[in-house]
Amino acid sequence: MKTKILLVDDLEENLIALSGLLKDQDAEIMTARSGEAALELLLENDFALALLDVQMPGMDGFELAEIMRSTEKTRTIPIIFVTAAGNDMNRVFKGYESGAVDFLHKPLFPMIVISKVKVFLSLEKQKLLLEEKLQKILETERSLNEALRSRDEFLSIASHELNTPLTSLKMQLQMMGKREEKLGRDAAFSKEYVSKFMLNAEKSVERIIHLVNDMLDISRVATGRLSLRLEDTNLSDLTREVAERVKPFLSVAGCSLSLELESDLQTRIDRFRIEQVLTNLLTNAAKYASESSVTVSLKREGDRALVSVKDEGEGIPEENQKKIFERFERVGSDVSVTGLGLGLYISKEIVGLHKGKIYVESQPGQGSTFTFELPIN
Ligand code: ADP
Repeated sequence: MKTKILLVDDLEENLIALSGLLKDQDAEIMTARSGEAALELLLENDFALALLDVQMPGMDGFELAEIMRSTEKTRTIPIIFVTAAGNDMNRVFKGYESGAVDFLHKPLFPMIVISKVKVFLSLEKQKLLLEEKLQKILETERSLNEALRSRDEFLSIASHELNTPLTSLKMQLQMMGKREEKLGRDAAFSKEYVSKFMLNAEKSVERIIHLVNDMLDISRVATGRLSLRLEDTNLSDLTREVAERVKPFLSVAGCSLSLELESDLQTRIDRFRIEQVLTNLLTNAAKYASESSVTVSLKREGDRALVSVKDEGEGIPEENQKKIFERFERVGSDVSVTGLGLGLYISKEIVGLHKGKIYVESQPGQGSTFTFELPIN
């Protein structure tokens, strides 16, 4: 927006002369022939400077200035009074303290007018720059505070999530110790007992590894170190392999699994990372859509491969569909389902690095379909 200067004088010829003097100042010049007309302009515009003739019939320059100083919108506009030499100086202007004030004496010397106006305009520019910088600093402060809050929240959730499997492991070990004490080693550790213990221990350890890996990925994303190792891959085979691997987990959750895969779809991807995305979508289906049919499909659309995981769970309300791809966002009502709210965020980053996209289509009560698209190349 162009800087504006207000000139107020009851004589048209004075306004024309002053406007002429200031025409090279890269500012829009607006003029008023009376205090009343000036007030109207002052309320509708933002001025960087006002030059007020002191002697005017009706409201004089000082009166106008006093009204300006008592009005919020015009309080800080710098004012240059234009006075007849020797006159007016003994009148005290009430309002010095709330803004810059200077005087120009008639007859006006062009050099002096221009240099005074320049000083005020550059002060105004500095002020605007400082305000802009201050705004930026305040914004940065806000986002830093938000980041701190979300880090603290994350640390508290993560410690809780890590604590659960660790406590379970510790309890199992303590129980083993007690059992050995009571029954003696041979009687205490039958084959079945040991395999059951191993299975539980493995589950706890796997959960810890999974959490730690997610946390490592998050820090890689934050520092731009999540990189891809691209290799030519048969996406059809890879999708089938991952689905088969997660199948037991789905079965435990009461989910059936069907595959609709286009065959022999080849593209260049980071195999390990795409497996991670697909595993996350499938384990989410088991976690959030238990007892439902889950369908994994793969198809080609133009130069893109589309991989979808469809479930018949309770679905995700529209207002949460974007949110769940953000960091640490969990939206479901079932707090017993464990998770850090990182899986979809990491998946979005991975798919994004492949120049693809990931999204969900869902209607509450009618299940969700998560799809990621990858370029075929
Ligand atoms: P986490 O599972 O650790 O919470 P995610 O980022 O994988 O983290 O998922 C974020 C949130 O999205 C979940 O907490 C859940 O509320 C929601 N969500 C993900 N998948 C599904 C799904 N298939 N059905 C319903 N809600 C889901």
